[in-house]
Amino acid sequence: MSDGDMEVFFCGLAALLGAVLGSFFNCAAWRTARGQVWWTGRSRCPVCGHALGALELIPVLSFLLQRGRCRHCGAKLPWRYLLTELGFGLLTVLSYRRFGLSLYGLGCYVFFCCLLCLSLVDWEIYIIPDGCLIAAALAWPLTLPALDFDGLRILERILSALVFGGGMLLLARWMDRLLDKESLGGGDIKLFALLGLYLGLARSLLALLLSSLLGLLLALVPRGGDKRIPFAPAISLAAALTLLWGDTVIDWYLGLFAF
Ligand SMILES: [Zn+2]
Repeated sequence: MSDGDMEVFFCGLAALLGAVLGSFFNCAAWRTARGQVWWTGRSRCPVCGHALGALELIPVLSFLLQRGRCRHCGAKLPWRYLLTELGFGLLTVLSYRRFGLSLYGLGCYVFFCCLLCLSLVDWEIYIIPDGCLIAAALAWPLTLPALDFDGLRILERILSALVFGGGMLLLARWMDRLLDKESLGGGDIKLFALLGLYLGLARSLLALLLSSLLGLLLALVPRGGDKRIPFAPAISLAAALTLLWGDTVIDWYLGLFAF
């Protein structure tokens, strides 16, 4: 195989892996949101509880072939399932293209998996599971090759997490008093601290800006009369985009001021 063919093959493999994991995290998040054990048991229809067979478990294809309905009871399945499988397939390809098969790439990818899972749970029950945040924090040392294992740069990241997380905590408390209701949940603040760890302070600020814009878009998605907005999906998508292309955007922005 030529280099080009190999690249297409690996991208296809990445898309497949992402779609399978997207499907798995949908199921894991559904169980977590209902207080069930997430790692064991057969996948079931969320409406009638019918155990899904092999043909109903193919990511993307099963949803399309069944026209978005359960084969057993005919109930409509949420579009979110299909979008998650397609979206995470795409993100996996982009992550592979950007970071290659490296330790740093693996660390970023585990971070993306944690972000997806916590976003799906937050979308359903407005809670960010601590387990996802802890898993992401534990995977962070995998990204140290990108910092050349330099003690000063590692310290800078840890301080970024404390400063960014602490700053968001103070901002949230101030907003709470101003609006007389909770603006950001504790989970959101811990998630921001995690962004500081993975992105550093400058890129975290970029991600914050982007997440505010995405949060406004998310507020337009109808949620059956529920006025609350789950913010984690917006923060997570902003974090992923910033990890992929934040450096390019910041370089471009700084270039505007270079004479
Ligand atoms: Zn069903």
